[in-house]
Amino acid sequence: MASYRIPFNRPTFLGAETGYIADSLAAAHISGDGKFTKKCHEFLEQRLGVSKAFLTTSCTHALEMAALLLDIQPGDEVIVPAFTFVSSINAFVLRGATPVFADIRPDTLNLDERKLPGLISDRTRAIVLVHYAGVACEMDVIMSLAGQHGITVVEDSAHALFARYKGRNLSTFGQFATLSFHETKNFTCGEGGALLINDSSLIERGEIIREKGTNRGRFFRGQVDKYTWVDLGSSYLPSDMLAAYLWAQFEGSADIQARRREIWERYDHQLADWASENGVQLPTVPAYCDQSYHMYYLVLPSFSARTALIQHLKDCGILSVFHYLPLNVSDMGRRFGGKAGDCPVAESVADRLLRLPFYYALKPSEQDEVLSAIAAFESWD
Ligand SMILES: *Cc1c(COP(=O)(O)O)cnc(C)c1O
Repeated sequence: MASYRIPFNRPTFLGAETGYIADSLAAAHISGDGKFTKKCHEFLEQRLGVSKAFLTTSCTHALEMAALLLDIQPGDEVIVPAFTFVSSINAFVLRGATPVFADIRPDTLNLDERKLPGLISDRTRAIVLVHYAGVACEMDVIMSLAGQHGITVVEDSAHALFARYKGRNLSTFGQFATLSFHETKNFTCGEGGALLINDSSLIERGEIIREKGTNRGRFFRGQVDKYTWVDLGSSYLPSDMLAAYLWAQFEGSADIQARRREIWERYDHQLADWASENGVQLPTVPAYCDQSYHMYYLVLPSFSARTALIQHLKDCGILSVFHYLPLNVSDMGRRFGGKAGDCPVAESVADRLLRLPFYYALKPSEQDEVLSAIAAFESWD
């Protein structure tokens, strides 16, 4: 495997994580829902203003919980942007849903709300939207369409913790929202996630689904004298050691976000002229969106230019990556009738998008190296 002087990602590590993990070991509570899990729940509930936060073992599992809570049945349709990670829709397909792929906006690369009226049918149960790179989708339009048709909105906020739309926190619009604490995300515990619930009538069932379909939560609170199997469920609780790691990052969240903001803004300022001279699209952040500084990407003029830039950066010891084969042209997507040409913007962007190294510990000197390597790139075709 090639080794890179400047990797694409390094998991965020502040230092306090180690002490908190030691605390959780000393407290002899390393299964789920210990002291650190509770702190993380309270933090998310207070900071975001959601009714309930449940830490989960991943964002994928939080999405699976949302699909169970919605009682998704075979034949239900779920609309999802074609340009996202598979978990956004796989969680619903696991319950029997038929995916309906929406194209994305050419500016923010978010689900294109103008496509929704043509995709909604009387079988549509949910819209799963993704705030790509932590920049909000057009929530006014989406929420009003969803309301008119009685469709549930699930926000896949894996990129978008602390981002806002017109001053309101993302993850508070949909019935549910999901977060990821995978090591590539702004805040991490290695593997982890959260389900955020905005409809308080669903909290109790959420607790049951997360506890293997049992009413163990009520038992621990002394509300029933034994616990038993009461519903579908699975094991979605992370160890309190992981919550201890995450807690250190929540405590340091202002520092993490401030540093990410510096890195993002530096890329954006320094690349502006280069991008306009060479027909490269930089991220669009509408004035009414406060973004989360999750990633910095370029959209190159062609697939061949992207391939050449990746190689050039690699020759300079820098790892840059691309992502998201559009879902409509994936093997699974094709089984549901997806085909090339259905989502032209997603298909075109997927061929041309490049993500630059972006992590909390990226040193200014390393970022300089990335910027000079880009400035020295010449093979546009
Ligand atoms: C990372 C990511 C996920 C999956 O997160 P896990 O915690 O790894 O399950 C889902 N959706 C989006 C948009 C992501 O970026």
